[in-house]
Amino acid sequence: MKLTPRLFKSYASRNISNPRLRKTYRFATHHALEKRLQVVHEVPEWEALRDRAHTIKEQTIDQLDHYLEKLESNVVANGGQVFWARDGKEACEHILEIAERIHARTVVKSKSMTTEEIGLSHVLEENKLDPVETDLGEYIIQLAHEWPSHITAPALHKTRGEVGALFAEKLGIPYTDVPEELCEVARKILRGKFLSAELGISGVNFALADTGTIVIVENEGNARLSTTLPKVHIAVMGLEKVIPTASDLPIFLRLLARSSTGQKQTSYVSLISGPRKAGELDGPDEFHLIILDNGRTEILKDPKARESLFCIRCGACLNTCPIYQRVGGHSYGSVYSGPIGAVITPLFQGVDVAKDLPYASSLCGACTNICPVKIDIHHMLLWLRKQVVDSGGTPWLERVAMKLYLAGMKDSVLYGFGSRLLRLILKASGKANASWTVPGWTETREFPPLAEKSFKTLWRERQQEEQHL
Ligand code: SF4
Repeated sequence: MKLTPRLFKSYASRNISNPRLRKTYRFATHHALEKRLQVVHEVPEWEALRDRAHTIKEQTIDQLDHYLEKLESNVVANGGQVFWARDGKEACEHILEIAERIHARTVVKSKSMTTEEIGLSHVLEENKLDPVETDLGEYIIQLAHEWPSHITAPALHKTRGEVGALFAEKLGIPYTDVPEELCEVARKILRGKFLSAELGISGVNFALADTGTIVIVENEGNARLSTTLPKVHIAVMGLEKVIPTASDLPIFLRLLARSSTGQKQTSYVSLISGPRKAGELDGPDEFHLIILDNGRTEILKDPKARESLFCIRCGACLNTCPIYQRVGGHSYGSVYSGPIGAVITPLFQGVDVAKDLPYASSLCGACTNICPVKIDIHHMLLWLRKQVVDSGGTPWLERVAMKLYLAGMKDSVLYGFGSRLLRLILKASGKANASWTVPGWTETREFPPLAEKSFKTLWRERQQEEQHL
């Protein structure tokens, strides 16, 4: 299947009609939400933390150039090297250059949405390297040749039976669906890869400008091994990941762990400041930080869109979204799914390419309510819908209908005339009580029959009754 947000409707229809998939998504997202709720209730200052995080992000994004330059100079002072990549191609080419220079063959990768965004594994494979995803979920989808269905749980759509069958087919082991046994198999294979890899690649959860430190949070320990055992470590970060100081970090760590996995803290938090120093036992000889733009500075230019850069990729908005719960992550045709995917994919790829995604929302606001950094997601979706409309991306019939509706809503006389006319037409055509068929719309919904009396008539009658009392 080609990864494209253009196909949202067909992906979504296919997934909705798959009861097994719907059950898996429902179970996984509800479980995550319950766990989150428990740990959030333990923090009385939760709302204050969200406000603080929002303010820090806002101030950082407003002075992004300043903080990024500070980060760069501190990474260099720590002995690391910084590369500014305008897009995914430049980032991948730089990684290939390093891999070639050090004669790398095996590349261990820890989970990183940014490297998913630029299709890095694919590029490495094309260039005869052996990239190995070391996060268990990522490893599963790598074996299945799929892309993540969730920002924090990439293999969320797979049952343990499916993982067992996949391992049996791809790894040649006897079938089992016991999670501990499957983990043990993956662990043994990945240990060998960690020890033989010449290059380790990671993402970045946060980058601390004042110390030149990158922060990686995880639960499996694979990121720590990927960044420590190979002789070269490359970290790839979107330029919005910088935060001003180390003292800001605890706020984000508390919000991220609770919002994403319902944990008080993730099992591992690694703070990496450059390569191994003299006298240190662990760590790589070289540390490279790639700061990726890939459309982010365009987003930055737009005051409405820039709030999307506050995202800390916790995945909570996916879990709570009634649309994501039903259509699943793969429907979005992008590595970023759910409400935040429906915002940033059109911003990265253009509203013409991803014009259905802003409509993949009930606008209930659950995403905004849950977002730990208080991104106003559902209003951004509404704003993106306006971009789609303004760029002529809606069908002509809808445009005409909306113009008529707008005219009617602005003028009560016109509204009354239009609604009376419509009722007359429906009654005359004998369709007032018929089951209507509107292409697309009524395939999954029932059109209600025309009410006996209009709202205006009922209202008038009620006022008359009240006057007679
Ligand atoms: S938009 Fe908010 S809730 Fe959604 S992934 Fe980003 S930080 Fe989490």
